[in-house]
Amino acid sequence: MSTKTAISKGLATVLILIVLFFVCRGRRLKEDSVTFMVFNTVCKVTVYENVKVEMAYKEIIQRMTALHNLINVYDPESELSRLNSIAFQADFHCSDELWEILCAGRQAYTETEGAFDPTVGPLMKLWGFHGKRNTIPTDEEIVSALAKVGLDKVEFDDVKHTVRFAREGVALDFGGIAKGYACDIVAEVLRFSGFTRYMIDLGGNIQLSELPPKGQKLFRVGIRDPMNKEQVLEVLELKGCSIATSGNYERSRVIDGRRIGHIMDPKDGRPGEFHASVSAITPRGVDSDVFSTAVFVRGEHLARKLADKHPGTSFLIVDEDRTTRVP
Ligand code: ADP
Ligand code: MG
Repeated sequence: MSTKTAISKGLATVLILIVLFFVCRGRRLKEDSVTFMVFNTVCKVTVYENVKVEMAYKEIIQRMTALHNLINVYDPESELSRLNSIAFQADFHCSDELWEILCAGRQAYTETEGAFDPTVGPLMKLWGFHGKRNTIPTDEEIVSALAKVGLDKVEFDDVKHTVRFAREGVALDFGGIAKGYACDIVAEVLRFSGFTRYMIDLGGNIQLSELPPKGQKLFRVGIRDPMNKEQVLEVLELKGCSIATSGNYERSRVIDGRRIGHIMDPKDGRPGEFHASVSAITPRGVDSDVFSTAVFVRGEHLARKLADKHPGTSFLIVDEDRTTRVP
């Protein structure tokens, strides 16, 4: 073999190796994702495996649509709307699906000592989130709305799966728990379909599989800076958990020049100006959604209690001048 042939053979081998390297690398990093709208927000499901997610996609959409139809309080025909309109006059018998989310809401209320309360609807309405109100409510109005707030005004029959309201005007709304609850369902469908490496982002509620993408030790999740939402405050490296952030920077409104946040304190009937944001990291999706809202309302003390009681639970409480980590 001439020197020239040997050199060109050598070069060809190197070239093939380089191409192979990039092909394998591309395969290893292969991901597939689907994006769709649910609960008036965007849901993105990404799988880091060489399998098309479309297989599970149909079922995910189906389950999400069913959940939305069940608890949509803007649809008078939804089961939750029917419950809300009937349960003061008569016992309302719940379907298994509604009963399950109702129990999740009740558990959330108990575990957060009432800081998370799925009956805050009258307060949301009073502070103009459901209508066009443009004045700050009076103290009398707040007192009268508070009379209709409190899960203790809802009677549950655990044997018959019926619900009854003890007061007129009480209403249930799962807006503060639905996204986290839904993330758990999406994760269940993915696991059942054989996926082991995935990330779910449902309107900012994130769920990560136990296994990160191949070649990575952990997933990287950015926490937005609530003081400057174009910037990332911190990048967390995590796996096998769920992250939710509550902050008033997302969905606040302005009345009389005052910024009104969309998270209410069910005790005093006023919107919180508690923290800039609270991120909760928990094993279950539903808990991160509930705990971030509850700790936003009650603060570090509740965060410590929840972290003590629930293994794998931690918080990032962001204030203008400092960030507190619990535990
Ligand atoms: P965030 O992502 O900021 O936590 P969510 O969309 O999860 O916000 O929840 C906010 C919604 O929860 C509000 O629009 C309201 O319907 C409901 N909500 C407000 N305050 C409370 C509360 N103290 N407990 C339970 N739900 C609440
Ligand atoms: Mg939430």
